[in-house]
Amino acid sequence: MERDDFEGAGVQTKVTHAGKELNKTHAVSSPIWLTTTFRADSNAHFAEIATEPRPAEFYTRYGNPTHKEAEAALCALEGGEAALLTASGMGAVFAAVMSSVSAGDHVVAQRNLYAGTETLMKELPRFGVEVTYVDQARPGAFAEAVRPSTRLVYVETPTNPLMMLTDLAAVAELGRARGLTTVVDNTFATPVNQRPLELGIDVAVHSATKYLGGHHDITAGCLVGPKDFVGRAWRFSLVAGATMSPFDAWLLLRGLRTLGLRVERHNRNALALARFLESHPRVERVHYPGLESHPQHELARRQMRGFTGVLSFELRGSYEEAERVISSLKLATYAASLGGYETLVVHPAAMWGLQLSPEQKSEMGVSVGLLRVSVGLEDEQDLLADFARALEG
Ligand code: PLP
Repeated sequence: MERDDFEGAGVQTKVTHAGKELNKTHAVSSPIWLTTTFRADSNAHFAEIATEPRPAEFYTRYGNPTHKEAEAALCALEGGEAALLTASGMGAVFAAVMSSVSAGDHVVAQRNLYAGTETLMKELPRFGVEVTYVDQARPGAFAEAVRPSTRLVYVETPTNPLMMLTDLAAVAELGRARGLTTVVDNTFATPVNQRPLELGIDVAVHSATKYLGGHHDITAGCLVGPKDFVGRAWRFSLVAGATMSPFDAWLLLRGLRTLGLRVERHNRNALALARFLESHPRVERVHYPGLESHPQHELARRQMRGFTGVLSFELRGSYEEAERVISSLKLATYAASLGGYETLVVHPAAMWGLQLSPEQKSEMGVSVGLLRVSVGLEDEQDLLADFARALEG
C-alpha cells in the first residue's frame, strides 16, 4: 500500500501494512538489510547512487532498505511527506533544530522541555542563535516572543513530568502567519493519540526509544515533515553520524506493527490508574490530561484522541515515603524511560537530585513526593492492586 492508499484508514491498519511495498523479497516478514555498503552495476550507476539524495542502496549511513520501510510506516502514521530515522531521539531533536537555524536567528521555545533538548537550547547562543523561553500554557506567550529574526518555534506536549499541554493549533497558526518553522516533540502523545501535522505543525520529532519501539530494547529517533525539511535534516544528520543501525530499524518496524493496539491499552490502563490514585487518601494530586481535574483537560480533549500512558502523582508525605512506595511496588520497575510494555516508575526529585537545586526543582513543580509512572500493558486489576498495596504498606 502506498501512502495515499491510507486516506481514511485506521491507525492499526496503517501500521500493519505501511511500507510493505518496499519489501522486494517474497518474505512476509521483511528481512533486515545488515550491510554497510551496496554493489554498483557500473560506473554510471555508482555515480548515480553516490549523488542521489537519501539513497536506499549506496552506503548505510546515507540510508538502507530497512530504514526506508520504517520511514514509510512513520509517514503513514503521522500523515507526513517524508520521515528520517536517527540513532536516538536526541539525534532527531538535534537534526530538526540545527537544520532550521543559522547564526543570527532566534528561536521561541517553551520553558518546559525534555532535559536533553533544554541542554541543546542552552548551547545555541554559542553558535549565535538566541532563544526565548515561554510559558507554554499562557495563551499569547509564543506570539509575544516572536521577533523579526525568529525562524523556529519549538514545543513539546505533553511535558515531563507534569503532563502540561501546548495548544498545537495555536502554535501552527502563529507559524503560518509569521512564516516560522514549527516543530513539536510528539514522544509522550504518540501519533495514535495526537497528530500534529494534521493540526498544521510542520515537523513532528520522536524519541522512538519510547512508544514507537515499545519494548525497552532500542535507542532510536525519527522526524516526520515536509520533503524539503527532511532532506535538509538528512544532510545534517549524515555529517553528524546519527545513523540508526538497520537492526534497530527492524526492531522499530516490528514495534510499530502493534502500536495502535499497545497505545490503546496504555491509554486505558493509565486512565484507570489515574482515577484510582485521584481517589486515594494518601495522594495529594494526580497529573494526567485525561482527568477532568487537569487544568488543560478541555485542550486535551480538543487535540488528543487518547491521553497516553504517562502520569505523575504527588504523595502526601516525605522524600523517604516516596522512596518507600517505589521500593514496595512489585509490578512497576524503578527505571528511567517510558513507553514500553512494562510499567516503569521514577522519583524525579531523586533522579535530578544532584543536577538541580531545590529552587530549580520547585520551579519545575518537582516536589519531594512526586512519582512519574509510565503505565505498561499489564492487566488493569493487577496494576491497581500493586499500587494499592504499595500505598498502604
Ligand atoms: N524527547 C523526549 C520527550 C524524551 O522523553 C526523550 C528521552 O527521554 C528524548 C526526547 C530523547 O530521546 P532519546 O533518549 O531516545 O535520545
